[in-house]
Amino acid sequence: MEKTHCHYHSAQPATWHCVPCQRHYGDCCIPLNEDAPEETPACPLCRDPLSFLGAANTAQPFWERIPSFFAYGCQPSPLAFSAILALASLFMPSIILLWIALFSVATKYFHSVIEASSQAEKTAPHLLSAFTGEGFSLFFKQLAVFFIAMAALWLAADFNSEALFWVVNIGILLVMPASIIRLALDKTLSAALSPDEVGQVIKAMGWRYLILCAFLFILWQSPTWVTYMLSHGLPKVVLVPVAAFLFGYFGVVMCAMMGYAVFQYQGPLGYVIADEDGQAAFPAPEYQRRRALAEAEIRVKEGQSPQALETLAQALQRTPDDLKLNERYHQLLFGLNARERCLHHLAHYLPQAARMSPALAATALLNARQLKPDYLPDDALVCEKVAGALLERHKTREGLSLLRNLHQRFPDYPHIPRAYLLAARGFAEGLGQVEPAQKLLAFVRMRYPDSPLGADIAALEATLSRLAAKV
Ligand SMILES: [Zn+2]
Ligand SMILES: [Zn+2]
Repeated sequence: MEKTHCHYHSAQPATWHCVPCQRHYGDCCIPLNEDAPEETPACPLCRDPLSFLGAANTAQPFWERIPSFFAYGCQPSPLAFSAILALASLFMPSIILLWIALFSVATKYFHSVIEASSQAEKTAPHLLSAFTGEGFSLFFKQLAVFFIAMAALWLAADFNSEALFWVVNIGILLVMPASIIRLALDKTLSAALSPDEVGQVIKAMGWRYLILCAFLFILWQSPTWVTYMLSHGLPKVVLVPVAAFLFGYFGVVMCAMMGYAVFQYQGPLGYVIADEDGQAAFPAPEYQRRRALAEAEIRVKEGQSPQALETLAQALQRTPDDLKLNERYHQLLFGLNARERCLHHLAHYLPQAARMSPALAATALLNARQLKPDYLPDDALVCEKVAGALLERHKTREGLSLLRNLHQRFPDYPHIPRAYLLAARGFAEGLGQVEPAQKLLAFVRMRYPDSPLGADIAALEATLSRLAAKV
């Protein structure tokens, strides 16, 4: 199965699906409400409840996290489990019932590792859980599966055809992991032996199932090879517990890998398991804000701009001073060429943007000028701030136009010297016009002799006169 992505953000994995709309959504488009965690999110387009895809598209492929499976086996519980196997191999008397009990406990522990790992739990199951509760019969079920496999192999050997024997042998090797996974998840022998159920596991993973088999085969061989390499010169009393310990450790690593493969392919396997780290949820106000922004974006991409406007307008009624909502609303109105509404909204948005993000305010003013060439904000501070941002962006003429005759338009504005100093810099640096800059500065010096900016004005005047002398 290939990964599915958000219909609107092709880099984001899909986590939700709307069947009627045939749309996949990522977490990018579907924020969650922290204050109502049980609420199923609704489709932004049709409002039907969405179906959760789990981590099917977000999970990291198992072959990219091989080291983490080895690390998984190094946790205290799996190590203690392996140590018990090692000790038992040394000291346990050869009473068949005792050994059956031990294998039963071991099988139960292996299966609980598959189960926990399939839920993306990062800590291994506690060792005690292997000795308590239900599930000891798993051993006999697993044993039955192995017996049937052996019987098939034995039958194949009877045909005196080496080719047939190997086909059956490899076939069993390939089917076994899927069967073990089925048994761990469904706990029934019928599921572990059912070609349908086992086939579903293989089908869900596709050719990647072969990767899993290859890794499992290597792991399965590892204890044998390690013991083989150690066998030269080491006494049996050391070798047997080492082999038993490695059997336990590599068994846990294999089970962790099989379990994670189930987690990764939960979608096609028909399981829905929450994400590894859980999805981010937001407190109600932030959730509503994010939902409005996401929905507006989706509506625009679907060509439903009026509905997008409606969504943003509703959100703005709740939080009129949210900069991002206002910015989106402004851009949408401007994009739709809704002249009157856009100019009306600017009266609210421009002062806010000038206060919080002058760069956004500069963009908004340039937009406004396209709708109305002589647009002027009716607030002196807004004019000054936006002019500053425009000058910084080298939109000198637009910036200067906001400062023209500021002292006449706003006679009570206390920062005229500061604004005109800015304008003088704009003339000199932006347009290379020294003369109007000098005139402005002379005006400020005469009209506002007590301005605390006197030193700055004098410094700029000195620079300008040096420039003028050079020309
Ligand atoms: Zn998205
Ligand atoms: Zn829908």
